Amino acid sequence: MEAPEIVKITKIIDEAEGIKSIFLEKKIDASPGQFVMVWIPRMDEKPFAIAYMEKDGFGITVAAVGPFSNKFCSMKPGDKVGFRGPYGTGYNLGNAKKVVMVGGGYGSASLALLGEVAMKRGVEVVFITGARTKSRLIYEDRIKKLNAKNIIATDDGSYGIKGRVTDALEDILKKEKIDKVFACGPELMLKKVADICIEKNVDCEVSIERYYKCGFGLCGHCCVDPLGIRVCVEGPVIDAKLAQQITEFGNYHRLKSGRKEKLGVVNE
Ligand SMILES: Cc1cc2nc3c(=O)[nH]c(=O)nc-3n(C[C@H](O)[C@H](O)[C@H](O)COP(=O)(O)OP(=O)(O)OC[C@H]3O[C@@H](n4cnc5c(N)ncnc54)[C@H](O)[C@@H]3O)c2cc1C
Repeated sequence: MEAPEIVKITKIIDEAEGIKSIFLEKKIDASPGQFVMVWIPRMDEKPFAIAYMEKDGFGITVAAVGPFSNKFCSMKPGDKVGFRGPYGTGYNLGNAKKVVMVGGGYGSASLALLGEVAMKRGVEVVFITGARTKSRLIYEDRIKKLNAKNIIATDDGSYGIKGRVTDALEDILKKEKIDKVFACGPELMLKKVADICIEKNVDCEVSIERYYKCGFGLCGHCCVDPLGIRVCVEGPVIDAKLAQQITEFGNYHRLKSGRKEKLGVVNE
């Protein structure tokens, strides 16, 4: 196995309450949708989507939810972490002319990067960004700078429309011709996006999460029922039609121990 490379944290941006972007001093060649494994010595190693690609490094947007992410978010510029990657599949824009990106919580991380790449190619992009509440919303200014339409939805109605990003998606698909939809966020949201797009016959890719140990297909911990595909290699970005063949998609996932856990609504 490739050993983690030790890199310096160059800057940290507060994106929203409990969500930070952490930039690492390492130039990488990656596609939006791919992830890296971040190693904090004496703690653990966890996957994170690539959220920013800059001239001399890249950034990750981290929601502080548990021991690892809290430790990562408490680090300061100058501190060092290990990383491996990039790994996994990226999104495929194909020949799409107009696309919708549906992001829930930190799920917008990989989509904002994809939006930047798409707009440089002349693709028209509509973002639908969801958060539990206004203080948890990320990337409003980043998307504004792109001059892209951004439909914001919050669960509590504290900002944008009150309700689900999937209601906004259904509305757009009724009114406009959309070539492809990309989605990343809580799995129950992804399942609904996939259902809507398949019903409306619109191409769609979703980025799904599973517990990763190795991150490059060796350990098999992230294999999903019944296909046995390794989400860290054949994913995280997969076609919605393939996702629908995964019986555990939108239903359950496996914990670190391998035990099945039913999915609840994660309001990240
Ligand atoms: C391909 C891939 C890409 C990922 N990209 C990112 C990313 O860009 N940014 C990021 O922050 N994380 C990302 N993750 C998740 C990340 O790898 C960790 O699982 C996450 O940081 C939690 O780890 P932890 O040890 O801090 O908390 P854990 O101990 O794993 O979890 C602590 C508690 O928080 C809950 N929890 C876990 N995740 C969430 C969540 N999203 N919202 C609410 N509660 C949650 C758990 O159920 C548990 O109860 C990604 C995962 C995968 C597989």
